[in-house]
Amino acid sequence: MRVLLLGGGAREHAIGWKLAQSPALTELIAVPGNPGLAQLGACIPGVDINDSEAVISLALANAIDLVVIGPEAPLAAGVVDALSEAGIDAFGPTEAGARLEASKAFAKDVMRRAGVATGEAWSFTDVDEAIAHLETMEGPYVVKADGLAAGKGVLVTEDLIAAQGWARLCIDGRFGPAGTTVVVEEHLSGREVSVFAICDGERALALEPARDYKRLEDGDRGPNTGGMGCFSPVADLPEGLVETTLHDVVEPVLATMASDGITYRGFLYAGMMITEEGPKVLEFNCRLGDPETQALMPRLDEDLLELLATAAEGRLPDRSLRWSGTAAVDVVLASAGYPEAPDAGRVITGLDVVGAMSDVHVFHAGTTPTRDGLITSGGRVLNVVGTGPDVATAQRRAYDAAAHIHFGGMHYRTDIGS
Ligand code: AMP
Repeated sequence: MRVLLLGGGAREHAIGWKLAQSPALTELIAVPGNPGLAQLGACIPGVDINDSEAVISLALANAIDLVVIGPEAPLAAGVVDALSEAGIDAFGPTEAGARLEASKAFAKDVMRRAGVATGEAWSFTDVDEAIAHLETMEGPYVVKADGLAAGKGVLVTEDLIAAQGWARLCIDGRFGPAGTTVVVEEHLSGREVSVFAICDGERALALEPARDYKRLEDGDRGPNTGGMGCFSPVADLPEGLVETTLHDVVEPVLATMASDGITYRGFLYAGMMITEEGPKVLEFNCRLGDPETQALMPRLDEDLLELLATAAEGRLPDRSLRWSGTAAVDVVLASAGYPEAPDAGRVITGLDVVGAMSDVHVFHAGTTPTRDGLITSGGRVLNVVGTGPDVATAQRRAYDAAAHIHFGGMHYRTDIGS
């Protein structure tokens, strides 16, 4: 099979790396890809992956059998709808399905109709109504921009004035077109966990959970980031959490969407809060998580290409996914200034040494090739994943490997997996 992979981060590198192990893969082309993906197949820069016509032209010119989509933006832009109209198979939800992530108000409505446990929520398009509603609540306040905001549209605060100000920013268009919806939610407390599933419209197969680390510094201090690392498996989860999430969340959501005429084929990512009253959904994403994917792919004991191709055709097997007995720990190496103002252009050394180490994988996130070698080109630069029989061994291998890599200003958390 000839596969076109859309995206260019470490998540896509990990997906591409796993797809490349499939005996059925004859060619992998990534758009735009990255220097890690370039070791697995061709990378084509300069094509807008949110532009359906451009993606279709590329797929036709390269006789692509399956398009796999990493990030949410092309999904929300309807690239899968356009591909399917052009007769090209794709793994990922249609625009209507991707609204589970692209509209928090839509996701809440689906959850309510599917009987899925989630916090209460109120949607507003009128600033004064949102402000008045917040007055009636007690903190902490949770205020969210309705649309895609690259993880930046959510404010959780004890400060009523800040919450009201955030509602105004959302409606004024800080995270999308002005006049959009703001969602005010009941605050949930507990421990967070993400559950991922591969869906074929009707059936869903769960991936194993991974725990990520959002804060920049050790001990969960410092600003929020896209994710500084993660590990899998996670030992301290409620018994049967994955099965109950499949049964009580994913399957009812697929059925409710199907009854609305939406066949949801793609990854579904349920962000959950384990509250005293049981697990409740915080949000859905219509794609895999980054950095969770980087820790999960080395553990998945399956032919990923076969799974995604069968899911795209609506015929996933009726069984659980197989996992290797190993653990994985992913440490993100970040640039100076990340997340506010990341530095770039620093020469990266040590990848050759790490490339020769066993039980270590390096997935590229923000790197660019130059005549003088690889340089940094993003806040999160590399993901160093160690694997081993247990989390402690995987952790030691990841950190041993990370110690061989250098670039100016490089920093990383030292407590991932501890
Ligand atoms: P979201 O993008 O909706 O997942 O929100 C980002 C983060 O904000 C979550 O991972 C939580 O840590 C926090 N959060 C979101 N919604 C709530 C809520 N209802 N109660 C408490 N924390 C929340």
